[in-house]
Amino acid sequence: MSLIGRTAFVTGAGSGIGRATCQVLARDGANIIAADVNEANARKTIELIDKSESKNLSIAIDVSKSSNVKHVLDKVLETYKKPPSIIVNCAGITRDNFILKLSEENFQEVIDVNLKGTFLVLQAFANAIIEHQISPASIINIGSVSSKNGNMGQANYCASKAGVELLTKTAAKEFGKVGIRVNAVLPGFISTPMTAIVPEKVKAILLKQIPLARLGNPEEIAEVISFLASEKSSYINGASINVNGGMV
Ligand code: NAP
Repeated sequence: MSLIGRTAFVTGAGSGIGRATCQVLARDGANIIAADVNEANARKTIELIDKSESKNLSIAIDVSKSSNVKHVLDKVLETYKKPPSIIVNCAGITRDNFILKLSEENFQEVIDVNLKGTFLVLQAFANAIIEHQISPASIINIGSVSSKNGNMGQANYCASKAGVELLTKTAAKEFGKVGIRVNAVLPGFISTPMTAIVPEKVKAILLKQIPLARLGNPEEIAEVISFLASEKSSYINGASINVNGGMV
């Protein structure tokens, strides 16, 4: 229960890793603001945590739109009177295709949600955290194992996640002095709706690359996020933590 008294803002909270993160952070004592482009799914996440919804909130957000991110921050400040001290950037999409067939639109869409969206949320909420002198504060961004070495058919996704990792390291350098730690978690192959669409034959190939010989569960990512959110990780800043069963 190391997050009692803290409030966590989680994007992509209506599904997969984001939903599991909300559940684990709530279990560890945090109030939860579940934000997702799909508001009904974010609401469902809050219902799974707390039927009374007293200290928790669900909210619609499109992380790729700065005006929308600002609107959401205003709503959060209106409700809680201060910004959350835990920010988790989980919202993400894939639009896979081989480079020669990848459309400009699909390239841009993935960059806009995964990289620009992480930047917009991080910038807006860090500003508010600094303005309200909230400390300690922790921002956790979700990268990917595939940003390390690339992945066939995922040029847009790998590029966006490599960007997230370096955005994280830069933010850690800029915000350290104001008591905001910024870290990245790099999941491997995790069983969520995002990977449910991966064809079975591709899954079989990927499984051979995982020494633990299984997919990860969203909760196994969420536990690391909770650790990074808490003061148990008080000297970890600018790190990228692999949670991938040993996959390379
Ligand atoms: P997921 O189940 O698809 O969840 C992602 C959530 O983000 C969905 O609810 C999605 O809504 C929402 N979202 C999409 N666009 C958004 C936007 N513009 N603004 C706000 N929310 C938006 O995926 P996941 O597997 O949990 O992935 C969570 C994060 O982990 C992502 O950043 C992903 O890239 C990363 N990751 C996942 C894996 C894996 O193996 N699953 C591995 C490495 C990294 P819709 O469903 O309506 O689009």
